[in-house]
Amino acid sequence: MSRIADNLTAVQDRIADACAHANRDPAEITLVAVSKRKPAQDVLAALAAGVTHFGENRVEEAQEKIPQVLARVAPDGLQPVWHMVGHIQSRKAKLIPPLFDVIEAVDSLKLAQKFSQLAAEAGQTLDVLLEVNTSGEEAKAGFAAQNWQSDAAVREVLLQTMQDVAALPGLHVRGLMTMAPFVDDMEATRPTFVSLAALREHLRSEIGWALPDLSMGMTNDYPVAIAEGATIVRIGRAIFGERD
Ligand SMILES: *Cc1c(COP(=O)(O)O)cnc(C)c1O
Repeated sequence: MSRIADNLTAVQDRIADACAHANRDPAEITLVAVSKRKPAQDVLAALAAGVTHFGENRVEEAQEKIPQVLARVAPDGLQPVWHMVGHIQSRKAKLIPPLFDVIEAVDSLKLAQKFSQLAAEAGQTLDVLLEVNTSGEEAKAGFAAQNWQSDAAVREVLLQTMQDVAALPGLHVRGLMTMAPFVDDMEATRPTFVSLAALREHLRSEIGWALPDLSMGMTNDYPVAIAEGATIVRIGRAIFGERD
């Protein structure tokens, strides 16, 4: 328990440093503690230490863990806010809205359409982020956006798809999410984050979306992501330790 609290303090200090360097207010940054493959008791320890946003990446795991956490949270205490950060199969989409508050990884038009339909059926609006594959790595999910600034064909398809998403009812598109390549040198992730921030500006002017959030930055690279405008950082290992 104190290990998680200590780790959390170190992460918060590093966020504060990154903000100071970038002339940003740490209050602009939401820390999402990614608790995937960690038990409910670790979530409760982080919650006790003051984190309120949690990220999970698998539906089945969340179906078990989220009720376990909620059963042990005092009704008048801090309530966790759950972010789905992993890829969602279309046929499992209906399981997501009852469990999660923010769906960060909407990575295709088909999935956006599915959530729009679920939102309509439930008479609710869903908070979503659109996952963008800025690095072009094949193993990564997300709307294709490699070299979108220099490649007009990529840009055209991307913009058309985003316009199709914007036309769907029931979705509150809060922003964009990306994952940088996994590299040793944190500096090498910067172009990915710069590209995502620029894409937000482009979509703001082309579609008129407000897009307040940029979800970028994980254990390996969050100081760089903050320097480039992240408003949400998703951090697992630096808080909870290495995963098995
Ligand atoms: C696992 C995961 C994270 C956290 O990664 P760490 O390296 O543990 O900080 C962030 N975002 C997504 C989408 C993840 O799957």
